[in-house]
Amino acid sequence: MPSAPIYLDYAATTPVDPAVARAMGSCLTSEGTFANPASVTHRPGRAARARVEDARARVAELLHADPEEIVFTSGATEANNLALTGVFRALRPERTRIVVSAIEHPSVLDTAHALAEEGADVVVVGVDPEGRVDPAVLEPLLDERTALCSVMHVNNELGTVQDIERLGALCRSRGVLFHTDAVQSAGKIPLDVHALAVDLLSLSAHKLYGPKGIGALYVRRDLPVGLVPLIHGGGHERGRRSGTLATHQIVGMGEAYRLAVERLSEDPPRVAALRDRLVELLTADGLGRLNARGAERVSGIASLTFPGVVGETLLYFLGDLAVSQGSACGAARGESSHVLKAIGLSPLEAHATIRFSLGRETTEDEIARAAALVRAAVQDLRRRAPRGEASATEHRRAHGHD
Ligand SMILES: *Cc1c(COP(=O)(O)O)cnc(C)c1O
Repeated sequence: MPSAPIYLDYAATTPVDPAVARAMGSCLTSEGTFANPASVTHRPGRAARARVEDARARVAELLHADPEEIVFTSGATEANNLALTGVFRALRPERTRIVVSAIEHPSVLDTAHALAEEGADVVVVGVDPEGRVDPAVLEPLLDERTALCSVMHVNNELGTVQDIERLGALCRSRGVLFHTDAVQSAGKIPLDVHALAVDLLSLSAHKLYGPKGIGALYVRRDLPVGLVPLIHGGGHERGRRSGTLATHQIVGMGEAYRLAVERLSEDPPRVAALRDRLVELLTADGLGRLNARGAERVSGIASLTFPGVVGETLLYFLGDLAVSQGSACGAARGESSHVLKAIGLSPLEAHATIRFSLGRETTEDEIARAAALVRAAVQDLRRRAPRGEASATEHRRAHGHD
C-alpha cells in the first residue's frame, strides 16, 4: 500500500480549514445565505450583504485597516493586476515609471511588462544574495515621474521578509505610491498597514486555509488617485471591481482570516520550530545548503539547494513528498526560477533547489520522515551522479519541459 503523501507545499496552497468549509457551505443552498448581496431591497439580500460585510471586517482586522478599504477580487493575481494597472492608468502620462523588485511574483512582473506596451517605463531593481531590496538602490528611482513602486512583503520561494516599513516610508517621503504583495506574510507575521506605510496591499485566501479564487486589494482610503478599474459593470466594490460578489468565497476568506488573527501568536512559532528542525536535518554533513539564511525569514518556508543533484530527478524520486522546485507558477511554465537567479544562483544550482513549505497541519513526524526521504534520495543520486543527470534530461524531455 502506498504511504500517505507528506504535504510540504503550503506556499503553493493550503487545505481549507473545516470551519471555513462549513461557513462557505452555509451560503449556497436555499436554506443558506444564497441571495445576491446587492439585492438590499429584500431580507435575504440584506442577510447576504451582512455576511459579506462581516467578512470584509475580518479581512480588514488582520491588516488594521478599515473595512471600506478592502476590495474583494478573484485572488491576489487580480489584486496585483489591479494595483499596478489601476494606478498606472490613473497617473499617465505625467507619471509613467513603475519600479518593481526582481523577485516579485509573476502577477506583478508580467503586469508591469504588459504595461510597458502602454508606455510604462518599467525598472526592475535587483536584490542582495538574501533577497532584500536595498533602499539606496530604490531612492534615485523615486521622483515625480514615478507612478508606483511595488515590493513584496515575503518572497514565496525564499521566505525572505522585506523591510516594508522602511521602503514604504521612503516612497511616502518622495510622494510615490507604494504597493506590497502580502500573500505570504498575511497570517504569519503581524500586519499593520499604517506601520508599513503602504498605499495598496494584495491578499489571497487560499494561502491561508481559505478557498481558491478569492483575494482582496487593500486601497488606502485617502489614495490621492482614482484607481482605474480592470473590470467594468454594475459598479460593485465602490466601482473598483464589478461583478456579483461571491458570497461563499468571501465568507470563506473572512472565516479563514478570523482564524488567522486568532492563531497569529500560536501557529508561526510552532511552524518555525519545525522548519528549523527540517533545515537542521537537511543541512547536516553538507547534504544541502539553506538559501537566504542571513535574512529574516517567514516561519513556514525553507529553500534548500542540494549541489550535484537535479531537482526534477530528486522530485521524481520523492513521490511521497509534495514539495516544489521554486514555485508552483514556475513549474506550470517549465521555467527555472527568476528568484533564485536574482539572488545569484547559477542555473545548475537553481535546478538543484527545492522549496519546502510547512503549515498548520505539519507534524514533527512528517518532518522526520521527509528529511529521511530527501537524505536517502540525495545520497543515492549523488552516488550515481552521471546517470542521475542523464535520467533527469530524459525525464524533462519525456515531459516536454525542454
Ligand atoms: C500565490 C501567490 C500569488 C497569487 O495568488 P492567487 O490568489 O493564487 O492569484 C501572488 N503573490 C504571491 C507572493 C503568491 O504566493
